[in-house]
Amino acid sequence: MEGKINELLGRKFGKNLDNCTNEELFDCLMEITKQEMEGRPSVQGDKKLYYISAEFLIGKLLSNNMINLGIYGQINDALKKHGREIADIEEIELEPSLGNGGLGRLAACFLDSIATLNLPGDGIGLNYHDGLFKQEFRDNLQHEVSNPWITKDSWLEKREGVSFTVPFRKYTVHSVMYDIDVPGYETGTVNRLHLFDLDSVDDNIVKSDSIDFDKTDIMKNLTLFLYPDDSDDAGRQLRIYQQYFMVSNGAQLIIKEMKDKGYDLHDMDKHVAIQINDTHPSMVIPELIRLLQLEGFTMDEAIDVVTKTCAYTNHTILAEALETWPMSYMEEVVPHLLPIIRELDNRVRHKYSDSSVYIIDNDNRVHMAHMDIHYGHSVNGVAALHTKILEDSELNNFYKIYPEKFNNKTNGITFRRWLVHCNPLLTNEIEKLIGPGFKKDAMKLEDLGRYLDDEAVLTELDNIKKQNKKTLADYFKKKQGLDIDPESIFDVQVKRLHEYKRQQMNCLYAIWKYLDIKAGNKPKRPITMIFGAKAAPAYIIAKDIIHLILCLQQLTASDPDVAPYFRVVMAENYNVTYAGKIIPAAEISEQISLASKEASGTSNMKFMLNGAITLGTMDGANVEIHDLVGKDNIYIFGKDADTVVNLYATSGYHPSDYMKDPEIARLVDFITGPEMKKIGKEENLERLHHELISKDWFMTLLDVKDYIETKEKVYSDYEDRKAWNRKALVNISKAGFFSSDRTIEQYNNDIWHLR
Ligand SMILES: *Cc1c(COP(=O)(O)O)cnc(C)c1O
Repeated sequence: MEGKINELLGRKFGKNLDNCTNEELFDCLMEITKQEMEGRPSVQGDKKLYYISAEFLIGKLLSNNMINLGIYGQINDALKKHGREIADIEEIELEPSLGNGGLGRLAACFLDSIATLNLPGDGIGLNYHDGLFKQEFRDNLQHEVSNPWITKDSWLEKREGVSFTVPFRKYTVHSVMYDIDVPGYETGTVNRLHLFDLDSVDDNIVKSDSIDFDKTDIMKNLTLFLYPDDSDDAGRQLRIYQQYFMVSNGAQLIIKEMKDKGYDLHDMDKHVAIQINDTHPSMVIPELIRLLQLEGFTMDEAIDVVTKTCAYTNHTILAEALETWPMSYMEEVVPHLLPIIRELDNRVRHKYSDSSVYIIDNDNRVHMAHMDIHYGHSVNGVAALHTKILEDSELNNFYKIYPEKFNNKTNGITFRRWLVHCNPLLTNEIEKLIGPGFKKDAMKLEDLGRYLDDEAVLTELDNIKKQNKKTLADYFKKKQGLDIDPESIFDVQVKRLHEYKRQQMNCLYAIWKYLDIKAGNKPKRPITMIFGAKAAPAYIIAKDIIHLILCLQQLTASDPDVAPYFRVVMAENYNVTYAGKIIPAAEISEQISLASKEASGTSNMKFMLNGAITLGTMDGANVEIHDLVGKDNIYIFGKDADTVVNLYATSGYHPSDYMKDPEIARLVDFITGPEMKKIGKEENLERLHHELISKDWFMTLLDVKDYIETKEKVYSDYEDRKAWNRKALVNISKAGFFSSDRTIEQYNNDIWHLR
């Protein structure tokens, strides 16, 4: 491999491994990796999956592709021999900005597992040029700037000759298709992510240093941004344009591939499985029906085969995320789908009198999830508790009609990225103890159970965590100029910012701790609270919470009584790259959503796999983590889902009741107290304070006392290092269940039936 790299460096740049720049080395490693993939066949089979998703949060690909292709070790050795660090080369790749949070990362993990299990299946999405915004901190506030990621060296390969005609009311456009290869782990084959785009899209219409652009110029803006601002009509219509563009291309590709293979379209369900990832791709159902009618199908035939082909994954019970689109908007953008959607709705109305299951409601809004449930054959939730809540309450009216359609598929993560790539030290240690089998069969991690009381192993685990903490501290320093003490406890909450995830409750703890230290109670060991989160640009309160976190960062760093013992820090522009640095270094995994609100969570799984201990509520997949590791190896607090669901049903939660407690009031009022006002912006702090005392829709104050008490217990237990490291090892050894390979096996066995 050394020779091959040097040969290429010489040919392209007249250099070698000793004198080339990192950019030149990156260029050559990309080329070698691409060549390696080019020769590999795609997975073949009688039936193929199409995973359609508005997001694929794939992260940087160079190292992961090298790992899956089996060339990472040789390349790493060659670089090391010449004093080069692969981490420096990784820095040059830009992270594709094609997703937002958990749902998009799930889609990326699934592609890796589908490829690794050698299943015929491709992803279908959009090639957003700027994707999700880049977050910058200025004056302790989030600013959004555009985040272009496509360079001449990207992984995108344009598929010449593949183009589809997509009709909108005002224009007809011709798409282009880009592919990103997805190599399976040591399979010798590749799957593909197909990303559709328009040649006319113009990156230059984005105003510099912002995410503003002309929302009405569809030919130029269609694939610029993921989730463009939808606070006005033009923004909402742009989202419909994007969704339809994605699914029309997807549907046409599916039909083309069936025809190319000589299949009869009437047998679609025997040769194709379509997984609809949340409701953004739901229009694929009426679009396929429309296209099949153009192929001569009757409405009955088309509906029948489409229903047997499509399956829907629900990701949330938050009402705001269950998309509804006014018919008037759809009329503006895709009038040709309306007769079909009306017919689908009429058939429902004909059969059922319960208006809550109609597709079109009394306000003439289309409920995308309802269309998926009636005209798909499977509806799945993403963790056991979430699926139960769908069945028993959120979608109970549908469950009563179609109990056989409902099923659970607890989310998972790919261990190739979230262990092998991001934590090589731990990977090596595990391999030394139980062999390499866990990379393909994650349940083998259970074998680590043999070492739970082996002091040498526990000490080694501790050493690895220390080294990863040091690496993260260096990274924070380099990226953001922040000083964090590698000897302190790393207590981490990284995830999208949302009130239901309750970063604000973690802030109330930080205030409690700050005041406690000011009162003279120094912690036994310094503590670093690490946050990372982007807030949706239009989500005002979420941005106010970021402001609070950043003010606490400044407060704790600048107070000499506190700084040596306690720091709050926030990672800027939290993304997959940052996650890969933070998670291996984390010791406490904050999973503190209001019970019933987090569908699954996947960072909880990443942390567990890397030996962090969960501090969480009985929500999402935390419940399953709890059941696997046992109560002594996780810290659970807070009211359970039944209690919370009941509180909503009876309107039984009032923050004012909790503000009567002087301990709670002291923490909440600190937000608008003199220390904070000196640092922060009055408007933001007052608005957040008012929200907490008057509304607090996600019940921060309900659990805050229990949270503080439990967290203090976590910190005190941390001091028994042997017992703590044992807990970490239990978590690692039980993480196998959360491999996305397991999740994909289950999708395949229960829903897709490929092979
Ligand atoms: C895993 C991941 C998420 C999902 O985090 P949750 O805590 O499960 O919401 C979000 N963003 C990134 C970058 C991730 O890697």
